[in-house]
Amino acid sequence: MGFLAGKKLLITGVLSNRSIAYGIAKACKAQGAELAFSYVGERFKDRITEFAADFDSKLIFDCDVGDDAQIAKLFTDLSAHWPTFDGFVHSIGFAPREAIAGNFLDGLTRENFKIAHDISAYSFPAMAKAALPYLNDKAALLTLTYLGAERIIPNYNTMGLAKASLEASVRYLAEAVGPKGIRVNGISAGPIKTLAASGIKDFGKLLHTVADASPIRRNVTIEDVGNVAAFLLSDLAGGVTAEITYVDGGYSQTMGVTTDLA
Ligand code: NAD
Repeated sequence: MGFLAGKKLLITGVLSNRSIAYGIAKACKAQGAELAFSYVGERFKDRITEFAADFDSKLIFDCDVGDDAQIAKLFTDLSAHWPTFDGFVHSIGFAPREAIAGNFLDGLTRENFKIAHDISAYSFPAMAKAALPYLNDKAALLTLTYLGAERIIPNYNTMGLAKASLEASVRYLAEAVGPKGIRVNGISAGPIKTLAASGIKDFGKLLHTVADASPIRRNVTIEDVGNVAAFLLSDLAGGVTAEITYVDGGYSQTMGVTTDLA
């Protein structure tokens, strides 16, 4: 029996088997959790149905987090199957391509700013607000963030602003729901080649730089992130909330340059 036995968790953001959310689902399932999934876009329904089946789940829900009505519907629909549940993973991010390439100011428009913040930051506390009536005591909420929230990472640009907001929301949300026994955390993952990441200009270069400079001399995997996520979602992490946990091979503690200088 794993440390998530008896827990019912909603996982958002599985788009491929390279998605960070897929790694999280794998680890949570291995620890005994029951899973439900949300995705966006009717055209992905068959694919997500198959992914859910990999995890013995038939619970999949189409939800565009850019729409409050769809967020509300997600949780009312879920409650028809699970009257209450134990938490969710927010593994969702989006910014228009020109907002994550080149000079920050070239890609900066009011519209790009709004979209990046709406989908990547607002959606996390908005989902928490809608889920609240259905969350059990000791529920745990988790989101995914990136070092570009606090450091200048080439090309991350407007997404860095959105992630900074997301990280602040982890703290304020933790305070808002903490008295109900609910915990809120973020994982700051190192770069991983996923569909979302491939939208960031020169992402391949970033992967190399980070692998070279990280104390563990490699990039992290969705399994590395998944295992930490499973822990944070479990009662083992009962004393951990309002935190950003780094799963980045130690890169955030370096100067960002390779240590193996000739
Ligand atoms: P991914 O492309 O596999 O997942 C991104 C998900 O966001 C997709 O499932 C997509 O459908 C979903 N999404 C986008 N717009 C949406 C909307 N309007 N409504 C609902 N869902 C929407 O990529 P990923 O790298 O696994 O990204 C997951 C999270 O991890 C993101 O928040 C990303 O910023 C974060 N992250 C990624 C990395 C990385 O290097 N890959 C590093 C740190 C943090």
